[in-house]
Amino acid sequence: MTQFFPVPGCRLVRIVRGGPTAITLVAEARRDHARCPTCRAVSTSVHSRYRRRPADLPASGKAVRLHLEVRRFYCRNPACPRKTFAERFPTLLARHAQRTRRLAEAQARTGLALGGQPAARLLAHLAMPSSATTLLRTIRGVPMPKPPRPCVVGVDDWALRKGRTYGTVVVDLERRRPLDLLPDRSAETWAAWLRSEPQIGLVARDRSTEYARGTTLGAPAAVQVADRWHLLLNTRQMIERWLARIHPRLKLLPPITAPALSTRRTRAYPRAPAEALARDAAVSRWEELYDDVRRRRAAGQSLRRINREIGLARATVRKYAFAECFPRHGRRGPGRSILDPHLDHLHARQAAGCENAMQLWHALRSRGFPGTVKQIRRWLSERRTRPARTTIRRLQTPAPTAQAAPPPLPSPKQLSWHLLREPDDLDAEAAAVVARVLQDDEAAKVVDLGRRFCRIVRSRCGGGLAMPSIAPAFDAWLSDARACGVRVVESFAITLAQDAAAGRAGLRLPWSSGQAEGQVNRLKLLKRTMYGRAKLDLLRRRFLLAA
Ligand SMILES: [Zn+2]
Repeated sequence: MTQFFPVPGCRLVRIVRGGPTAITLVAEARRDHARCPTCRAVSTSVHSRYRRRPADLPASGKAVRLHLEVRRFYCRNPACPRKTFAERFPTLLARHAQRTRRLAEAQARTGLALGGQPAARLLAHLAMPSSATTLLRTIRGVPMPKPPRPCVVGVDDWALRKGRTYGTVVVDLERRRPLDLLPDRSAETWAAWLRSEPQIGLVARDRSTEYARGTTLGAPAAVQVADRWHLLLNTRQMIERWLARIHPRLKLLPPITAPALSTRRTRAYPRAPAEALARDAAVSRWEELYDDVRRRRAAGQSLRRINREIGLARATVRKYAFAECFPRHGRRGPGRSILDPHLDHLHARQAAGCENAMQLWHALRSRGFPGTVKQIRRWLSERRTRPARTTIRRLQTPAPTAQAAPPPLPSPKQLSWHLLREPDDLDAEAAAVVARVLQDDEAAKVVDLGRRFCRIVRSRCGGGLAMPSIAPAFDAWLSDARACGVRVVESFAITLAQDAAAGRAGLRLPWSSGQAEGQVNRLKLLKRTMYGRAKLDLLRRRFLLAA
């Protein structure tokens, strides 16, 4: 029996059914003696007996409770201050514990993997119930691992509350293990951590000045490596910032493309007059805000102050402050429509002289068109050769400037992706957009610089340049970019030049902080399974122990 229900240090006396969902194991100590915990003397004189009832690991889906016969012994050592003592079961049970060690460990493991509340819900099904708060306490009691001392580390920041509070994650790049979670991303905290690990020889980091300063303070001898992924990211962000300023001008450039397919719509259907009025009102409100931001900026106010005083989002304030003119929203390109499969039919019917929306709709319905007659009316309203009999005169005036406006341009963010890609990797539509943008001289210059830089960074991953020519290419790029005449690119190149040693190391060495990004992802998942309510110590434990 003991073979099937092993209880460490105990002999199983009998098994009792404790109702339909529980089993009770009655057990007692195997030895007939015990040692006094104070003087370590052995005693066999039993003073009294009592029972402990700790919960244990479940069996066959049923909750198990031990009924443990505990004896109290006399201590016969006259020099000992203790008169009596209870026997202990160190491998099975902690003092005063209500659950066996093996149950507590199983619960703690589940809690580490899932977090307090979810683990509590799962454990109830697994017949080892525990409350969420008890689980958290158990997790806090699990000893922290002592990982081998790292020599190559990656560091990155992560958001405790996005835009407000940030922490730091440290990763052992050689063993691919998380090492620590720090409460902020300041240079001082990072330097203090580095000082505790003086053997570290290489630090891969992003381009933030805080980590650069912290590394120089805490590990002056370590090689610093600027992460390649961050270099590419910052390049794209630089292009995006530049586009935000120049976007209104680029929008006026004529398209280069071949004419679109005849049946495919090139723009959305015109809105109703009421919708157009509402849109115009909104646009003029934004224009007033734009003027306000420009006025305040010209008067020397900081972006932060403008943000605070007029309550406009910080990103919008920044966009308005740097834009050449009011960044009017482009007319959005049309998405897919349920009308698309039937356009050929509609064209044929209209060519045959039918301009009655209701008739067309009935015909389409029989072909399986699920939409309403309103969609047919919109389609027809642009193509009528004569006014419909039911049309109110006000609606007959054609939508102004609909034909004159150039086709829309993707947003600065989308466009920055297109512009940095190699021309061979673009599909026809994107290639047309890029060709249209490149008509602008400044754009051609900036895009060429951006692509050149990306090629240099990517050459480490097996494309483009040979290894020995990377550093000279990087230096040549820096001097070209610093003198290109476009302010955004110049300031990007200047900050890059200030951190040039780390940049060159990033291009030369295989290390990057990509793993730290992966760990940040895992951390975000852990954080969210705790509904963002966990304190940092708990998050840190789960992050390191569940790895
Ligand atoms: Zn004693």
